[in-house]
Amino acid sequence: MAKASAKIPACSFCGMPQSDNQLLLAGHNAYICESCVQKAYEIVVTDKQHHNKQKPPYSEDIKALTPKEIKKYLDEYVIGQDEAKKILSVAVYNHYKRVFNKTKISHKQENNVELEKSNILLIGETGTGKTLLAKTIARLLNVPFCIADATAITEAGYVGEDVETILTRLLQAADYDVKAAEKGIVFIDEIDKIARKSGDNPSITKDVGGEGVQQALLKILEGADVFVPPQGGRKHPEQQMIRINTRNILFICGGAFVGLDKIISSRININVIGFKGKASEEIDKNNLLPFVTSHDLKTYGLIPELLGRLPVIATLESLSKDALKRILLEPKNALIKQYIYLFALDNIQLSFEEEVFDLMVDTAIELKLGARGLRSICETIMTDLMFELPKKNEKPIEYTITKEYAEKKLHKLKLKTQSIKKSI
Ligand code: ADP
Repeated sequence: MAKASAKIPACSFCGMPQSDNQLLLAGHNAYICESCVQKAYEIVVTDKQHHNKQKPPYSEDIKALTPKEIKKYLDEYVIGQDEAKKILSVAVYNHYKRVFNKTKISHKQENNVELEKSNILLIGETGTGKTLLAKTIARLLNVPFCIADATAITEAGYVGEDVETILTRLLQAADYDVKAAEKGIVFIDEIDKIARKSGDNPSITKDVGGEGVQQALLKILEGADVFVPPQGGRKHPEQQMIRINTRNILFICGGAFVGLDKIISSRININVIGFKGKASEEIDKNNLLPFVTSHDLKTYGLIPELLGRLPVIATLESLSKDALKRILLEPKNALIKQYIYLFALDNIQLSFEEEVFDLMVDTAIELKLGARGLRSICETIMTDLMFELPKKNEKPIEYTITKEYAEKKLHKLKLKTQSIKKSI
């Protein structure tokens, strides 16, 4: 900071001496000139705007939403999965009702009923939208959100991440605002991979990534004060910890649970073609997941204590050809919409022959890439065009991607995938 001259007063910030055309304000042993006041004002206003933008308005937003409205929002981004969306909307609604009512009525209701936390378990093949559902909910509610991988966690004392690092990520997503993090959402992926392995012999190999991790997760899932290393990594004694209470954090766990259908099938003893229940309800042998019970998950290898903390179970359907095509075209940020927008920024009006979409979907199915593969399929078709078409100062042009062009590009992708499969 420049020092004000003893004789001619000068701005203590920029050092400008007093003059006739600049107002100089005097403070305690310091001066500030008109232009520094102006600049300081601008900095304060910009900083306030930035801060307000970041400030999560969730408390009000969430209270105003009904389960139907939550589902309607999910519909804009996630195709199909109606049952899962409904279950998720109700669970999220109840969770935040519980969180925000607590402050109003104290956390016991008038009739002494305490509302329990309802963490959610999403079961469905990989690439069917589990992560997308959790992410979309968090965006709607504007709460801090993070994704953790259950397979990266190990029991304390073993090589790998401590369970607390999940909360470090949430804290980082909340910009170290503990209060915001305490109302956030955590998505724990691949929860099925920490199932207890039936053939494990505890005396020979310790189940580092299985039951021990499930035990470790219990604490954070239920609601406790957890001491979290602010930068993640392993805890060590000198490190300063941040205390986070997980009581109001919503945990959504997801997993593919490969082989679970066999457990369900043997429980309900399904015949080869189908099974007529008492209520003459037709059970499709190829779609058994909706009939899952906690008991099946226990047989799969999740410990009962963990299942007790995941009371809401929703299953996702595998995506049909029609669903994959809708995923390409319909969501608010659908892939095709994104490419059209990208090209439009270069003054190129992009269109597609209808058959191109079928071709993309058929390729995703043929190569067993699912919805996740649609992006690489689009990239394969579009990369050369994105390289060739943009030109400086070009007048607007129109370009249509034909079936023939797409076929040529996808042929390469198929060859590549086949050779990878062979080499494996
Ligand atoms: P999962 O978590 O079930 O393995 P993701 O949610 O990560 O799958 O899905 C991978 C990608 O596939 C998403 O980013 C999204 O682009 C697309 N996708 C998958 N399922 C759907 C769906 N039901 N609706 C819209 N997009 C989907």
